[in-house]
Amino acid sequence: MNSNYGINELRTADELNEKFTAPLLTWLSSNGYEIFWHPIKMTPMFTHRYVLEELPNFNILPGHVVHHRDKNKLNNRLANLDVMTKDAHDDIHLKGAPNRLFRKKQT
Ligand SMILES: [Zn+2]
Repeated sequence: MNSNYGINELRTADELNEKFTAPLLTWLSSNGYEIFWHPIKMTPMFTHRYVLEELPNFNILPGHVVHHRDKNKLNNRLANLDVMTKDAHDDIHLKGAPNRLFRKKQT
């Protein structure tokens, strides 16, 4: 069973506006995200950011990042992606669990 969805799977799943005629060249960034070579724009792009930026009338605002809800960096389906500020994102990944463990009880 394949639980990862890279750019080529998304393409055939008809989830993107743009259609490519051949399988795309993909590789992983050093921090585990999929990158693909956009054959028309002639530039490498992060798949997870591309999926959102392809939405009509949608832009990822400066200072915002894309989070994978299931923590699987290769599950780039639209339903798995959230946009949030970098601070909110850091809370989820860095502070979430320890803070919950050590937070004092409210009275
Ligand atoms: Zn995240």
